[in-house]
Amino acid sequence: MNSRAHTLSVFEVIKETADAVTLVFDVPAELAERFGYSPGQFLTVEVPSERCGSVARCYSLSSSPHCDRRPAVTVKRTADGYASNWICDNAAVNSVLTVLEPAGAFVPGSLDRDVLLCAAGSGITPVISIAKSVLLAGTGNVALLYANRDIGSVIFAGQIDALAAKFPDRLHVLHWLEEERGLPATDAIAQLVQSYVDRDVYLCGPAGFATQTMAALIRLGVADDRIRTEAYRSLEANPFLAPSAALRASNPNSATIATVELDGQTYELDWPKGTPLLDILLTKGLDAPYVCRESACGTCVCSVRSGRTRMLLNESLLDEELEVGLTLACQTLPESDRVHIAFDQ
Ligand SMILES: Cc1cc2nc3c(=O)[nH]c(=O)nc-3n(C[C@H](O)[C@H](O)[C@H](O)COP(=O)(O)OP(=O)(O)OC[C@H]3O[C@@H](n4cnc5c(N)ncnc54)[C@H](O)[C@@H]3O)c2cc1C
Repeated sequence: MNSRAHTLSVFEVIKETADAVTLVFDVPAELAERFGYSPGQFLTVEVPSERCGSVARCYSLSSSPHCDRRPAVTVKRTADGYASNWICDNAAVNSVLTVLEPAGAFVPGSLDRDVLLCAAGSGITPVISIAKSVLLAGTGNVALLYANRDIGSVIFAGQIDALAAKFPDRLHVLHWLEEERGLPATDAIAQLVQSYVDRDVYLCGPAGFATQTMAALIRLGVADDRIRTEAYRSLEANPFLAPSAALRASNPNSATIATVELDGQTYELDWPKGTPLLDILLTKGLDAPYVCRESACGTCVCSVRSGRTRMLLNESLLDEELEVGLTLACQTLPESDRVHIAFDQ
């Protein structure tokens, strides 16, 4: 069992639209610290399955740690999807779900900076958390571009209207309805957001929307390292199951000596050259943090203090984070004979 998995009961279920529900969780006092989170982070929920025991799915927190008493996630039905439909059909008040502690790097660096938030459909979930946090707990201004199929599918319409009424000078909302204007394309997005390109950008939405918005931002000259994106996808691995001890391509004769700082302890271990760091830590029974093991979630981020490493894939870390030595344990291979790693993030 993953040491970051806990059972939480559902305190409230809110029907947001015809195909989206919010689950508000009750966090007992003894877990309050473990379920502390930053705006933009997500929870991973275990959904039972008669086919394989369970599947794991990530859902962004739509609540704000700064103004909402309890954490909440908002789940939209995916056509023919398994877990989202199970949750929408089965989750009820007092249901007990197994959930991993909050994770994720789609988090604003400061609540006092101006932000441009771009979301489509259920991509609003982490974005509303960031918007509420900046407006209610920070001093930044918020521009929100929010695309939806039609008026009935706008999740959090009421909350957004209330925020716009409360902060008329700090929140500017740009709604885009496809039933009226078609799918938003690069030109139109560029025109809408051009006054906000000096801001940090947070982008979350389906692939088509994300591609068009990225193209618009790049055309407007927004630097890559000022754009954070969150891509929704279903996990293939199941972090609720015991990690498989299978080592990928290991050659024990060509091991690096690794010094690893984790949870206040320092470990010295052999790290075979072809094996990702996370695999070797889990194989040795060390309780390293992880969720997706696919480079997407950023949960296993750690620092390379000395020595050389390389990553197989990086979908989470920005250039400036790589420059200061951050790496994803699930993708990191050793390059030098000694490497010093710290889980200090
Ligand atoms: C960081 C992050 C944040 C996210 N935040 C949100 C959010 O806030 N809101 C939101 O709505 N979504 C969010 N998502 C997306 C979410 O995690 C799921 O990808 C989405 O809900 C679709 O999952 P699904 O199981 O319904 O659909 P699919 O994954 O498309 O379902 C099909 C899959 O389920 C399998 N399957 C079918 N039947 C069964 C069965 N009986 N047992 C086991 N497996 C079966 C199939 O083999 C197939 O692999 C987020 C994703 C990420 C990575």
